[in-house]
Amino acid sequence: MESQHVLIIGAGLAGTCLAHQLIANGHRVQLVDRGINHSTAVAAGMVNPMVFRRMNKSWRLDEFMIDARNYYLQLEQVLDSKLFHPIVIRRMLSSEQERNYWLDRQKTPEFQTYLSEITPADESYSRAHNQFGSGRLKSCFWVDAKAYYEHNLDYFERKGSLLKEDFDLSSFDEINLNYNGKTYDKVVFAVGYQQMNTPFFKELPIQQTKGQSIRVHSKEIPENESLNRKCFVLPLGNNVFRIGATYEWDNPDLTPTEEAKKELMDHLSVLGSYSYEIIDQQVGVRPTVLDRRPILGAHHSIKNLYLFNGLGTKGYLMAPTLARELADFMFEGIPLDKEISIERFYSKSNVPIV
Ligand SMILES: Cc1cc2nc3c(=O)[nH]c(=O)nc-3n(C[C@H](O)[C@H](O)[C@H](O)COP(=O)(O)OP(=O)(O)OC[C@H]3O[C@@H](n4cnc5c(N)ncnc54)[C@H](O)[C@@H]3O)c2cc1C
Repeated sequence: MESQHVLIIGAGLAGTCLAHQLIANGHRVQLVDRGINHSTAVAAGMVNPMVFRRMNKSWRLDEFMIDARNYYLQLEQVLDSKLFHPIVIRRMLSSEQERNYWLDRQKTPEFQTYLSEITPADESYSRAHNQFGSGRLKSCFWVDAKAYYEHNLDYFERKGSLLKEDFDLSSFDEINLNYNGKTYDKVVFAVGYQQMNTPFFKELPIQQTKGQSIRVHSKEIPENESLNRKCFVLPLGNNVFRIGATYEWDNPDLTPTEEAKKELMDHLSVLGSYSYEIIDQQVGVRPTVLDRRPILGAHHSIKNLYLFNGLGTKGYLMAPTLARELADFMFEGIPLDKEISIERFYSKSNVPIV
């Protein structure tokens, strides 16, 4: 296929995953990003395969997991930066029912990649409050989110493929896909929770879900695994841990709050009576959708204008596969899965359902 030039607004997880995919497919990209990020760069970057309550796998886990692992490992070479960190997640089980789900699932081939069999040592694990035993998750990892965002910006800037600026709507002609005097073949909006500040796709139900986390220093919290119950405890090295995260619906405010700090400290105390000092507090906003599925696809009336958004709480797991599916849709006409397609929000007459 002939190489095309694609303008991508937003160089967070969505925009950069798509940019790398398009380059791999032989296209040229131009990213626009203001250089300030409140989601991709402040995330914990954890890829946890399970949804704990009923001990189910995350949606489309097996395919997302393979793509995600390959993407971050390959990107380490491209960006010359350490991004990918394998980790064991130790779930402190919260009920007899959760324990039974685990015991039941651990024997099935479907779960063997992710659930370790509960051993006597897991049952009696003593470095956290232990009521119902614990279990270890396999195949988990976390991505250094700050490094991911910053090194991607550096990389695209060095290639001359990044405009570090506010997207200037008055310089954009959406009919001719011209921005600042340059014409593009396709344009993609990947602006995360700031979607409603752009006129295109603003009717779509992308919500702003504030999330806060704290970093603490402690010599008592275990460093070899990521403890999980009520909150996650991610060891960052040198006795520093990130504790997260809160969920504050419909809230784009970027101020750290005492309430969130207290909530996180309370949740940490459910795991153990550790002594620690708080280093700092992070705030971000996730772009979420009520049906918990991302939104990808083409604008209902403007030709060659696309959207990649709604990555929600599991962006680091889903984005690499979704970027490939969006590229295939844009260039090969391969239909997007109904569950992620923007068309679920358009009526039969192609009008957005508000
Ligand atoms: C506290 C917190 C913890 C999280 N933890 C995890 C986790 O552990 N695991 C996980 O998988 N996910 C996690 N997430 C979710 C994950 O971060 C998001 O799913 C993902 O980062 C969203 O990426 P995005 O590219 O859609 O949006 P963003 O990261 O918001 O990127 C959008 C980009 O667009 C740019 N932009 C917007 N408007 C304009 C404009 N007008 N002009 C120029 N540039 C513009 C912004 O500068 C920004 O860089 C977490 C999120 C938060 C907030």
